[in-house]
Amino acid sequence: MASIAEADIAFTTVPHPAPVSDEVRAQVLANPGFGTSFTDHMVTIEWTEGKGWHDAVIGPRQPIALDPAASVLHYAQEIFEGLKAYKQADGAIALFRPEANAARFNRSAERLAMPALPEATFIEAIEKLVALDKAWIPEGEGASLYLRPFMIATEAFLGVRPAKNYKFIVIASPAGNYFKSGAPAVSIWVSEYTRAAPGGTGAAKCGGNYAASLVPQGEAIARGHDQVVFLDAAEHKWIEELGGMNLFYVFDDGRVLTPALTGTILPGITRDSLITLLREEGLTLEEGRYSLDQWRDDAASGKLVETFACGTAAVVTPVGKVAGQQGEFTIGSGGPGQLTGKIKNRLVAIQRGEAPDTHGWIRKI
Ligand code: PMP
Repeated sequence: MASIAEADIAFTTVPHPAPVSDEVRAQVLANPGFGTSFTDHMVTIEWTEGKGWHDAVIGPRQPIALDPAASVLHYAQEIFEGLKAYKQADGAIALFRPEANAARFNRSAERLAMPALPEATFIEAIEKLVALDKAWIPEGEGASLYLRPFMIATEAFLGVRPAKNYKFIVIASPAGNYFKSGAPAVSIWVSEYTRAAPGGTGAAKCGGNYAASLVPQGEAIARGHDQVVFLDAAEHKWIEELGGMNLFYVFDDGRVLTPALTGTILPGITRDSLITLLREEGLTLEEGRYSLDQWRDDAASGKLVETFACGTAAVVTPVGKVAGQQGEFTIGSGGPGQLTGKIKNRLVAIQRGEAPDTHGWIRKI
């Protein structure tokens, strides 16, 4: 693809001397859960100031040695991505829009004062890992191999400035359905905490954003909800996104609204894909602002018929109930809405190779 910068890094492959046995792997794949088990290999690429990217290795997955003064451990110079490899209907293995993850990774790198990684290298690293560990891709509904590319600052230095050494790593984890129960609709808690402020790092996928979301997410769980929803930092009025998913609102007149990318929201690749698919369905897709008060009023009047959240991990998930300091409200019947189900099926069919890939989103390995 012309937009992808050429990579000039040669990868060395070092196969695992003692990979997990077929029997143990089969046990893992029978019930993969999310984020708890890992494949045999990983990719590492080093970056050194003055030298650039070098020493690209696909080798055994193992602990990494870090100096205790490594900047990532002190100032959180870290970014990551999340994408999936799918077993398709015809047995092929496919990635979904990895070039979009590569581009977002470099936007995150820029915000965190980290070096850009050529998009072609980002994709090649993932493709090589998936090809080597393809026996780890689970099959069945909702199952995939979740890929986690990330970059950390490794320089041993306690001054506050961008590090001079970095490590790019890709690990892979077999994944089943994100929500354990395969919940028909999730209940969300409106947090009093804020996730991102104007001028901050909300649009970057950096570890620090997620560290700061743990207390609000814990509060949501403690109150019996599945997820936390964040409002804007300035007015605490406009709905932004969940801890790890973007939101869409469906109205009774065929309009669909999703919060605009104002710099405080993560630009989800699922969000972007759904905007395209929803427009193809003939719906009027708007990117704008929506307040919590309006959400409550529209849910009560029936003007708002559905709300769904979306992201790589959880795909498309209906929101049934919203609760916060000012009480709670139910959306539609409280269960999955019609458009939510329809659009999820369309996206999943493309990802699984069961529907034609008319957008060039599928990259077969
Ligand atoms: N918002 C946040 C905060 C996220 O962490 C994610 C997951 N990457 C998303 C939205 C959804 O993004 P995507 O569709 O690219 O997975």
